[in-house]
Amino acid sequence: MDSGGSSLPSSVAADARKRRVCYFYEPEVGNYYYGQGHPMKPHRIRMTHALLLNYGLLQKMQVFRPNPARERDLCRFHADDYVAFLRSVTPETQQEQMRALKRFNVCEDCPVFDGLFSFCQTYAGASVGAAVKLNHGHHDIAINWSGGLHHAKKCEASGFCYVNDIVLAILELLKRHERVLYVDIDIHHGDGVEEAFYTTDRVMTVSFHKFGDYFPGTGDIRDIGFGKGKYYAVNVPLDDGIDDESYQSLFKPIMAKVMEVFQPGAVVLQCGADSLSGDRLGCFNLSVKGHAECVKYMRSFNVPLLLLGGGGYTIRNVARCWCYETGVALGVEVEDRVPEHEYYGYFGPDYTLHVAPSNMENKNSRKLLDDIRIKALENLSKLQHMPSVQFQERPPDMEFDEEDEDQECGDERDDHDEEMDFPKLSEDFKCKSLPENKQNIKTDMDIDGSEVKNHQEAFQRLNPKVEPVSSEVPAYTKDMVAGLTTVNEPSDVKPHCETFPLFSKS
Ligand SMILES: [Zn+2]
Repeated sequence: MDSGGSSLPSSVAADARKRRVCYFYEPEVGNYYYGQGHPMKPHRIRMTHALLLNYGLLQKMQVFRPNPARERDLCRFHADDYVAFLRSVTPETQQEQMRALKRFNVCEDCPVFDGLFSFCQTYAGASVGAAVKLNHGHHDIAINWSGGLHHAKKCEASGFCYVNDIVLAILELLKRHERVLYVDIDIHHGDGVEEAFYTTDRVMTVSFHKFGDYFPGTGDIRDIGFGKGKYYAVNVPLDDGIDDESYQSLFKPIMAKVMEVFQPGAVVLQCGADSLSGDRLGCFNLSVKGHAECVKYMRSFNVPLLLLGGGGYTIRNVARCWCYETGVALGVEVEDRVPEHEYYGYFGPDYTLHVAPSNMENKNSRKLLDDIRIKALENLSKLQHMPSVQFQERPPDMEFDEEDEDQECGDERDDHDEEMDFPKLSEDFKCKSLPENKQNIKTDMDIDGSEVKNHQEAFQRLNPKVEPVSSEVPAYTKDMVAGLTTVNEPSDVKPHCETFPLFSKS
């Protein structure tokens, strides 16, 4: 397949140029459990990480352990009462809060489980932390495979998502960048992110998804944004069985046009892996390479890039995909043969990274694809003739204010992303002292005593970085920051929606 590449005159670097990549991973994330039979399995993040470790990819990037997002960080998008509910609800006490469960849609798709709130804090903290890294300009690409929970709404859980880490990360990027592009290749429509930015011209959302009798029911090609946001939402509705070639016949021309007319300062790419062939809940027929082609293409524009996870329910394929895409981010072609490691058994009988797509029918006819491409490009061409967005002064840089932390933050963890070093596999995994060339910043962080297990023993959690995850920007829903028109309140400007279950236990 054509490896693509930007033809933009503004693209300064050749695609082959190395990118500075950072990666966020919380060793505990794989232990969260949605419940028996639930298709969302955070364990897939740990499997992905194990592949990265055993392929030797961790040494090629800076690895950070995320700081949990604090309640007030989450409230920059979410409603206070919803966040307070997520913090307080437990499997034991949920029966006493039936009304709230219903109100916030915490139900079968989005169950209450042990550690729910800390899970939300973890994946959201990682996405926001990754956005902060990009804002600082020391990294070209930041990765958080535990993020990408695109269905969560301001005051409602949806589609296995509770907190919308993507919206929070975009809000962070907007402090530095006038325009942020969001691209979503999960099989489901990126409804929560689209809705949040539906009426602003500072964020363009582009979603490629299965449409028609499918969760969440939104994402019609005619849903294009509203008010100032008109033409800043792009929806690409697809049908069952789409293959690599059909997918790229839309993805590349549409994204090339988007980059040309919107010229974002940063790009967020949600890499939901339920669009892969053979997904437990999905019905597309993409190969890992076809999926990763989207990453390769967006990387080629050489704009700060945040890579997030998302859906993905055949977990061995999710790990394959995100491992391969990490390689793409690094500019490394990962070997097909999976190295032996603790989750090796998942990858049998072939033990390869790539899996052949199936022979399922591609219901996306050439005519249908042409019509969609033409319509999407036509909408985008309307932007070309609009006056460009006025440059707005950005909010001040985030300052780490310890006093304020003490007053407002009751969390035990502090606000610093913790860098982890990963020794080569052949090396002894015993802790070493801090490298001399790295500054040892004294903090009260718990980096010494905590127990690490299994492959996590490979981590040497050293060299904490003092970097705030967020600044004192008022919640968007109350005070608008730097000219961003609005983050949407639930209202009648929302796109049309029919209701379909994402998952029902039968
Ligand atoms: Zn999905």
